[in-house]
Amino acid sequence: MTQSLKGRVAVVTGASRGIGRAIALAMADAGAQVAFCHKEDGARATETLELFKNKSNAFVMDVDVSNEQNVIVFFEQVIKMFGRIDIVVSNAGIIHEAPLVETQVDDFDKIINVNLRGCFLVNREAARHMKVQGDGGNIINIASDLGYLGRENMVSYCASKGGVISLTRSLARELAPDIRVNAIAPGPIETDMTSLECMSEEALAKDLNSPLGRYGKPDDIAAMAVFLASPQASFTTGQCYGVNGGSVMQ
Ligand code: NAP
Repeated sequence: MTQSLKGRVAVVTGASRGIGRAIALAMADAGAQVAFCHKEDGARATETLELFKNKSNAFVMDVDVSNEQNVIVFFEQVIKMFGRIDIVVSNAGIIHEAPLVETQVDDFDKIINVNLRGCFLVNREAARHMKVQGDGGNIINIASDLGYLGRENMVSYCASKGGVISLTRSLARELAPDIRVNAIAPGPIETDMTSLECMSEEALAKDLNSPLGRYGKPDDIAAMAVFLASPQASFTTGQCYGVNGGSVMQ
């Protein structure tokens, strides 16, 4: 195992389970100290915290990423705990499936608030702290292949992820050359989000419609996140990497 992130402090949102958990643990395996947040499932968050034992220092907090004050306080607490912030992964996200004509304004607002406003708030606090430190930084936003492809009955989710890709490109330009900003656009990954509790059978079946024809694992996304945060990716900014089984090719 390489320790490419030794001495770094990484912040990961929505890391009590799924892709966020895998990214947070992979950052720790690569030598980083990790702060992570989640919204409401305390049992899963405690379970995740336990997994850091014998890896690195870790810190967890309940945060709603769509709430400005929550995000500001979270970053302040990370600074209090670890003294600095080098890597920020904006991962927290939710999904909503419904035909357009049945989508309520509240449903649309909820998805945009968590997935896009949350990403904006997390990127803004990341940049504020990284600029004060003055020695660079790394931001990675978790988008989705559906941000490119679009998907019937998922207008709010797809629009939010298209926004994340665009936000990433704008910030990569604005924050260069000191802070690199990239995104990862996962294809279908085996997590709670891709279960029958969150998506219809029809939507899950569509997920298999790619050259590799299968679901990926959270670790597939974590490997890309560690690479993007590492010095090996020092000439990379403003990109959105597809880890997607070939669902999007560009
Ligand atoms: P997941 O298993 O449903 O986990 C979601 C995580 O986000 C949980 O830790 C949850 O914490 C947290 N969260 C939800 N709302 C939050 C909020 N308002 N504030 C803070 N944390 C919040 O999801 P996942 O599949 O790992 O997805 C992670 C990211 O990858 C999302 O942005 C998703 O859109 C994206 N993605 C996933 C797939 C896929 O196939 N799974 C594909 C493309 C993109 P609590 O449980 O405590 O609420």
